[in-house]
Parts: sequence; C-alpha cells; structure tokens
Amino acid sequence: MSFFAFSVSGPAETGSNTVSQHEALSFAEAVGSKHYSTVSSGEDSSDSEDETSEKGKSMVQKLQWKNLQEAMEWMQDESKEKCFDFSRKEVRPNKNPATSRSNWTKRLIYICSRGSTGGGNRRYTRKHSWVRKKPLYECGCKCRLRLTVYLDSDTVDGIYHPDHSHALGNSNIRFMRIPEVTRREIELLLRSGMEPDKVLQKVRGNVYREENIEYLKSSTAIRAEFATRADVRRIQRSIKEETIRLAPTDGASVLEWARQLRDDGHFVFLKTSAEGAPLGSGLDSKSFVLIIQTKYQQELWKQRAASYAGIDATHNTTHYQNMSLFTVLVRDRWGHGFPACWMISSNATEDTISFLLSQLRSHFPETVPEYFMSDKDDAQLNSLKKHYPKSTIFLCWWHVLHNWYQRFNTLAFPEVWKKLKAWIRITDYTEFMDMWAKIKAEAPKSLSQYLETNWMNDIKPWSAVY
Ligand SMILES: [Zn+2]
Repeated sequence: MSFFAFSVSGPAETGSNTVSQHEALSFAEAVGSKHYSTVSSGEDSSDSEDETSEKGKSMVQKLQWKNLQEAMEWMQDESKEKCFDFSRKEVRPNKNPATSRSNWTKRLIYICSRGSTGGGNRRYTRKHSWVRKKPLYECGCKCRLRLTVYLDSDTVDGIYHPDHSHALGNSNIRFMRIPEVTRREIELLLRSGMEPDKVLQKVRGNVYREENIEYLKSSTAIRAEFATRADVRRIQRSIKEETIRLAPTDGASVLEWARQLRDDGHFVFLKTSAEGAPLGSGLDSKSFVLIIQTKYQQELWKQRAASYAGIDATHNTTHYQNMSLFTVLVRDRWGHGFPACWMISSNATEDTISFLLSQLRSHFPETVPEYFMSDKDDAQLNSLKKHYPKSTIFLCWWHVLHNWYQRFNTLAFPEVWKKLKAWIRITDYTEFMDMWAKIKAEAPKSLSQYLETNWMNDIKPWSAVY
C-alpha cells in the first residue's frame, strides 16, 4: 500500500484549466512555511538526469519543505486544487549518500496519474481501427514531481513540472481515483443488499433527478458523480472474494470448498490431478474431476428427472486450459431448465462422463429419465446409452442446428437454411421425408452427403417425428 492515498471529496473549482506560474506561486505562499522559487528549466543544473522537459515549454519549479510530511500535505493540496492525482512512479535510493555532493538518501518520483508509468510493449500495433469516443485515461501527461530526502536534514527538496497535457478542473475529475469515503459508501450499500444500479444512482447523489436542479446549476463537480458501473463492480468483486475465495490459492480454495460442502451434507466428489483415480472409476490418473450435487439438487433430481433430463457441456469456461463444465439439467415445475448436478473436469472423455453418470445412477438407481437430452457428442451419447439404456436420447435442437450451420454457407443458401430450421420441427413422417427431398435437391452436395451419412441413419434423437 502506498503510504499516501489522496482522498478528495470535494475539489475546489479552479476557475481556469491552467494555473499560471504566478498563481502557483501565490498558492504555495498561502499554504505557508515553504520556501519557494521558480527557475526556467534551462537554468536548472542541479540534476540533469531528470530535467528532460522541452525547453521553453514548461517552467520547472524548485520547491522546499521542512519535512516529508509537509511535502505530502502540499501534494494533497495541489492535487485537490487542480483536480488530478499524483501516482508514485518509483523510489530511487542513493547507494552511496555519503560520497554524493548533497548527501541525499532517496528520491521519490511522482507523476500525474494520467502520465505513463512506463512498461508495456512500445512496439504494440493495434489490431483494429476503432476510434475511441472516450478519451484515454493514460494520455502521456508530463506533470512530474521529484522529492529529494537527505541524510542529515529533514528538509525535502522538490523539482516540479506543473504542466499537464490535458485539461484540469471539473473535466479531469472523472479520471481521478474514487475517494475513499465513496468507496466505503459503495461497499456499505452493496453489503446491505442493494442492487448495483441503485448503489450507483445513490453514490452519484441522484444527480440526474428533477429535485437536483440546484446541483445542476452549481459548477462544482465531485468525483462520486463520475462513479461508474466498473467502480461498483470492482468493489462488489472484492466483497464476493471474501466468501468465494476461501484460500489464497485456487487449489487450496477448492479443497476448502469441498470440505465445507461435505460438512453441510452436500454431495462432493473430488479427485485432484495429484491423487490417483479411485479403483474401478475408469478415470484418468492425471485428471481433475469435481462433481457437486447439493441437497437441493438431489431432491430436484429425485422429483423431476423421471420425465426429462439433459446434459450440457461447456468448454474452457475458466482460465484453466481444457477445463470443461458439465451441467445435468432437469425441468422445474415451470418448465425451465434447472441445474441438478455439476461436474468440472480436465477432460471430456467418455470415461469421465461415464463416471459422472454412474455416480448419478448409483445414488438414485430408481430415477431413470424417460427422455435424456444431449449434445451430438459421441462421448456423451455412449455414456448415456451405457448408464441410462432405457432413456430415449434426443439431441438439443439448438446444438443440432448449430452443427449444421457450421457445415455450409448459410448466406449463400438462405432457402436451405430456412428449410433445415423448419425440417427439424416437422412431426409428420411423410412431410418430413418430402422436406428432406427438397433439401437434398437444393443443398450443396457436401451438406446433403453429410446429412445422409451422419444424421439420416438415425433420425429418432433429433427429429420431431418421434
Ligand atoms: Zn496530468
């Protein structure tokens, strides 16, 4: 944590966006106790390494304070006055203070938070030609302050480049850090259960409401009114982390989750990639498999799965490569799909899916879905046939159409695409075959051949005829 974090709750109006040298001088004098003088950058010979600003453009100011505390206070006032944030860029220690001319021990370099802190790939070329409407936060601002701390004195010297390459005052407030008091307010409201959008409205002081017309007339802006959804979301995330992330590392957190869920009576199967596979499970010894079925989900499965169940796979849902999320679904009382069991696994092989279904089947041997919906995926279909041989398997139309969609150019054959979408819903066998004849006549040969060999051999799982 930086030892200085400015909190700016109500920055004063600066009136103009540029502060002249004279104004800056009187401001510093008003603050008091600071010896102050200005020199042009060309004359500053005290340390050449830092004075890189173009001659004649910026007036470099030499500042001095009694101690570091006073320097910090000055910075706080300066940023509040002009509406920008200082960011600490680096601390430069002097390895041999005794031998250097002025006995300095360290230098603290601060830049405007809209300046570049360095790093990043300078040769990066943009991959697109979009033009941003919103100005960039980082605009290469050259405002810079260097504080020098000495070995045998409390005095702190400053070299200050006060020019900014952007407007200051009200128009810069939205680029400033969100004040600590606002951050705390957002956190409190979120914890009380308020919806993020409501929180945002509230911290913005409901400025867009009719009753705030007086506020609209005032020319002073506050940072809180520029609080964004992103600010609220960031705070929301950190609150969630307290309850979601139970340990500093993902592995330990998963173990802790498994323990807590088991303690609460939920079903958890966990095989880490370091543990061997349980005997007879058929699982790959290197695989990671986590199956969760909460008490609620178990009850749901018992009650609802007899008529209908579905299995759906999503790949690469986490930043861990090749992780798949399997969701076993039932339909709730209102016909909505509802997850009745989950599995996260490092592979999507038939053995792994079979293991999931064998767990379900052995826990609830009596529950056999009449219909089982699946993706058109051999691993899933074979596992289903093995553990639920009595269920009628049908394919999700969305997956079927998605599969066909990828096989041909739908833009070049819009009529075929239209017919395929209608075809899948036809319930009458004769009608179904008539449509198939039309599709064959119109579709590109590769598509009709593909349908012939991969789909027409068994129309039961996907057509509405059965
Ligand atoms: Zn700046």
